[in-house]
Amino acid sequence: MSRFYVTTPIYYVNALPHLGTFYTTVVADALARYHRARARSRGEDPKESVFFLTGLDEHGQKIERIARERGMDPQAYCDGIAAKFQETWKDVGISNDDFIRTTQDRHKRAVAEMWARLAASKGPDGRPDIYEAEYDGMYCVGCEETKTEDDIVVDGDRKLCKIHQTPVERVKEKNYFFRLSRYEKQLLDWYDTNPVRPESRLNEVRSFVKGGLRDLSISRTTVKWGLPVPQDPEHTVYVWIDALTNYLTVLGGPEAAARGTGLGAFWPAAHHIIAKDILRFHAVYWPAMLMSAGLLTEQVKAPQIFCHGYLTVKGQKISKSMPATRVDPKAIAAELGVDPLRYFVLREYTLGGDGDFTYESLFQRYESDLGNDLGNLLNRTVSMAHRYGRIGALKKECYFDELAAEAHVVEGNVAQGWEQFAPSWALEEVWGLLRAMNRYIDAQKPWLLAKSDVAKLDIVLATCCEAIRWAAMMVAPAMPADSSKILRQLGRSADEGTWPTVLGWPGGTLAEPKPVFPRIEPERQAELIAKWVPAETTPAIGQPAAAAAPAVAPTAPPADVSIDDFAKIDLRAAKVLTAERVPKADKLLKLTLDVGTGETRTVVSGIAPTYTPEVMVGRTVIYLSNLAPRKIRGVLSQGMILAAGDADVLGLSALDRDVPPGTKIR
Ligand SMILES: [Zn+2]
Repeated sequence: MSRFYVTTPIYYVNALPHLGTFYTTVVADALARYHRARARSRGEDPKESVFFLTGLDEHGQKIERIARERGMDPQAYCDGIAAKFQETWKDVGISNDDFIRTTQDRHKRAVAEMWARLAASKGPDGRPDIYEAEYDGMYCVGCEETKTEDDIVVDGDRKLCKIHQTPVERVKEKNYFFRLSRYEKQLLDWYDTNPVRPESRLNEVRSFVKGGLRDLSISRTTVKWGLPVPQDPEHTVYVWIDALTNYLTVLGGPEAAARGTGLGAFWPAAHHIIAKDILRFHAVYWPAMLMSAGLLTEQVKAPQIFCHGYLTVKGQKISKSMPATRVDPKAIAAELGVDPLRYFVLREYTLGGDGDFTYESLFQRYESDLGNDLGNLLNRTVSMAHRYGRIGALKKECYFDELAAEAHVVEGNVAQGWEQFAPSWALEEVWGLLRAMNRYIDAQKPWLLAKSDVAKLDIVLATCCEAIRWAAMMVAPAMPADSSKILRQLGRSADEGTWPTVLGWPGGTLAEPKPVFPRIEPERQAELIAKWVPAETTPAIGQPAAAAAPAVAPTAPPADVSIDDFAKIDLRAAKVLTAERVPKADKLLKLTLDVGTGETRTVVSGIAPTYTPEVMVGRTVIYLSNLAPRKIRGVLSQGMILAAGDADVLGLSALDRDVPPGTKIR
């Protein structure tokens, strides 16, 4: 029996569910549902072959602090957040088999087992994998990770985490260390089995490991909110050792996984869906721990790690401090139904890349893909069957194989899409079939056949019913509830949760036609968007969104310019190759740009208060190329890059996708 174990990261309890966690969880859920459907169609019990885990990471210094700030006991704080997560996942149709919380007793036992296995492991030289030593270094609470000089930026006399731009803390204490350095070669060999996708991420971790691994500090004496180190309870287990072990806890712990008994049989068939910010923990620390614990060898392509990008909202990173990026999946689901939002995120974004969310594109897909293509095909088919009195006449024998070849090709591609972690492709393939069926109806003209050729009419309608039935089963991983509604309308609820195999309308009593995706008028869409976007950032309906607020009193608006005047301005996409601070000028960065002509340009820009050199490298910016060159602080600046704000830079102008340097902008 094939086994499929899929996990989301365990989400940190410093935030409630948002669009980002919803996305990751829906991806894992859809994959689990696909594999369960395949299992049922093979006659297997899906409980035996598929296991889907999500949950929460509840330990760490950050949680201790948040709870203290609120005057709460950390456990009570975690309980409150856990209840909200579980409720949200239930409301959006998440079919997890277990929900792990790292404060549970079973997890405490699993981590103790893990620690014991690491402590018992020795290298060929006889040195144990866990040892004690003095740690003196920097720590970022935001990352819950020790930092080296490479990981920080110096800002005057302060040292800041590169990721968080907040000061790192000095930590000096006796710690337990994990001999990570011993696993360099084994990890590199393991990467040759291609366990990390997409390939760009695999290359990223490979070069990180090739750069040399330092041993990992795996205990703290200053952090209390965590699990005690066995035999030395003064120490708390490093949060990442604690957190990663969760994937084994739910299978009965490391011992059960090693024996392969009970749920332990799901080990090592794990598929970890993660976001790129936790790639290193999953693709370096975790496999090294597993190798040390005797749960992984470098020849095994498991666990598999699938790394997706970030979703932004209207181009902005999702953040608690940015109300406009708050997208509440539950609020949308309450109006639109859960499945359209699930469909949207799975179809709109290529898993692995970054994506941007807008309500406008959500409504656009709702209307075109769901309303026009799928909903309309169902509605017109069922309506015609009723109107022409053919309900009882549609039998398997009247199925015509005109579309059989196409349906089988589509099914093969959809299955590949789900198997290869490419939901967007899988869904796109289904829509190819749906559009072909709508064209088929237009060409066959059943409304004429009803008067001239009833036998042919039955064939056309049965063919449509069968194509819709297949489509409903193939989209069910993304849209379980709406798929069921469609199958019930076809009188085929027996097919719910299964995968199509034999082509040919098996018969079914068609219910009264009822739109599954009712039309939402533009006025109603605007009302809903206004309701969903937090009030303080909602622009008045019918007005363009306000530009970034100027930091000084606005000057008089410029007089109108003619299109010819505008055409004098040469705006281009450009890629930042290098960035550095300009000595003795706090506000200035010196950038080298690839402007696509085979040459580079130097630009001095006053963005340093908002952007560090590190975050600029690799970005695509909008470049005004024909501004007369001028010297700024002794550097010749050739043109400028566009940013929002007046005296203070509030944001860079950016394109919503990468285009080659040199591309004209107008
Ligand atoms: Zn940090």
